This record gives sequence, structure tokens and C-alpha cells, in this order.
Amino acid sequence: MSATSGVVVQGTGGVWEVFTEQGETLLASLRGRLKHEAHGALKLAVGDRVTLKQDAQHADTWAITGIHPRVSKLARRTPGGRYGERIVVANLDQVLIVFAAARPEPHPRMLDRFLVIAEANDLAARIVLNKIDLVSPDVSEGLFAEHAAAGYPIHRVSVRTGEGLDALRDEVEHRSSALSGPSGVGKSSLMNALFPGLDLRTGAVSDSMNKGRHTTVGAMLHPLPHGGFIADTPGLREVGLWGIDARDVAGCFPEFRPLLDECRFADCTHIVEPGCAIREAVEVGDIPAGRYESYVKLRDELAA
Ligand code: GDP
Ligand code: ZN
Repeated sequence: MSATSGVVVQGTGGVWEVFTEQGETLLASLRGRLKHEAHGALKLAVGDRVTLKQDAQHADTWAITGIHPRVSKLARRTPGGRYGERIVVANLDQVLIVFAAARPEPHPRMLDRFLVIAEANDLAARIVLNKIDLVSPDVSEGLFAEHAAAGYPIHRVSVRTGEGLDALRDEVEHRSSALSGPSGVGKSSLMNALFPGLDLRTGAVSDSMNKGRHTTVGAMLHPLPHGGFIADTPGLREVGLWGIDARDVAGCFPEFRPLLDECRFADCTHIVEPGCAIREAVEVGDIPAGRYESYVKLRDELAA
């Protein structure tokens, strides 16, 4: 009986594809004790690290005999608690949020929404501004400047000219990343430029996978040539703001965090209260008005 370990890269409800340390893709399923325990928090997810054994009775599929503890998860939570959450991808190191400098126009408030979802899932976010060939350097530098000031790493790149791609590749290789962003910003072009042959088609992949199946397949991880994985879709958008507590939204804005203990009231909503350190910071320009506007909008949405 042989044994190995690997990462679950795709799941179709019952049979899972596992990418092994040796670089092989094996089909595997939960057996015995793990299968019966597989409810609630123990459910296997794409991105999980597992140990496998080949058993004599089922020569073509492997048995998943162990699930390693998760270090992170991107999950769609149900309101009011963690029970029943659906894990979209486990063990991500970061999320890459892609926008275009033009065509389509960048949307800072939409970026804020993606960032809050990443923060609420305790995932590091990296912003990619593609198509900088379409604007002047001044315009490109000005875009998302408030997010750079908040501490988010920003990669200004162009798939067309190749600018910035090497530096971005360095941050993506050997890590597990999820890719998000509006359609048309160049996500597929970017991945194909960074890792030729990967042939990742965001959107198209999940559509064809779901055909004729009853359950939603969820995310899929693509192994990268030198190590690491890219999850295509569903990503942040599919996870959404579900289950995030309105009171936790302020903490999802890194530039708010140092001030959160300074408000007069401990349960300050940072919207109407006197002595609010956040609103004072907005008034003097220490917190950008646009970021605060996103805070109010997202908080209202969750409080409703
Ligand atoms: P996705 O929907 O985010 O996967 O976007 P695609 O990769 O399909 O790209 C959308 C369009 O943008 C295509 O026509 C690409 O050729 C174009 N595109 C991608 N990257 C760049 C870039 O750096 N500069 C310019 N000018 N166009 C780009
Ligand atoms: Zn306040």
C-alpha cells in the first residue's frame, strides 16, 4: 500500500482531484471515519492539504485518510454564526484584486468592497492595476493612491507592454492566490502572460464545469509551474459580504484601525456620534473621504 500527500485542487462532490508533492494529479475520496465525520467544520475543501493511501479494493481511486489543519479560508458564512459556512478555498496566502487603469474604468469604491471581503476573511490582499499602457504615468500613479497609503501593495502592470510582470510573478510563485476583479480587466490575459500554458479562462472554466451537475463545484486551483496555485473562480465576488457583522466593518479598513480606540463611545458606529475619531480624521484629511464613504455604504448594507 503506497501513501502520499497533496493539495485538493478540484472537487465534484465525492471525488476530489489532488495534486501531489510529486506533481501528479490523483482522484481521491473520503473513506471510513473521515467520510462520516465530514460535516460542518470538518468538510473537505479545495485547497486543503490531505494525506492519501492507495487501497487494494479500489485500485483507480485513492483514499483520503487525513486532512491537515487549515491555515486560512475564504468562506461564505451564514448570517449569525459560523455553522453552515461554505468554504470556497482553504489555505490561500493572498488574494489578487485586478482592475484596469482604463477600459473598463477603475472603480475605487468597488475595490473597497473586494478589500473588505478579503479583510473579513483574514486574507492578505494585493492590488493589480493592469492596462497602464492606456493612461499617462501621472494618471496611473494617482489611481488607487489612497489604497497604497492604507498599506496595500499595488502592482501597476501592462500585459500589452510587459511592464511590471516580473515583479508580480515573484509575488505569485510558490504561493496560493485567488484571483478576483471585474470582467474585462485582463485577468485571463494576465495569468497567461505570467504563466504561459496555464490557460486559465476565468468564468469560462466554471461554466463548463457546472454543466450537467447538480451541485456548484466551487473554486478550482491551478498548479503553477514552479510551485504555488492560482484559484480562478468563484472568488471574492461569490463570497460577498455574507455573514460579516456590521460592527466588524470598521476593522476591515487598515487606516481606521489605529483610531478605533480613540472614539468617545466604545460602540461608536463612526456615523453620527460626537467625539468620533474616525470622522475627525476624515474632516482633517487623514482618512480619504472616498474610503470613509465606502465604509458608510458597506456598513449600512450589513446593518439593514
Ligand atoms: P478578463 O475578463 O478579466 O479575464 O479579461 P481578458 O483577459 O479577457 O481581457 C479583456 C480585454 O483586455 C482583452 O481584449 C485583452 O486583450 C485586453 N487587455 C488585457 N490586458 C491588457 C493590457 O495590458 N493593455 C491593453 N491595452 N489591453 C489589455
Ligand atoms: Zn467613531
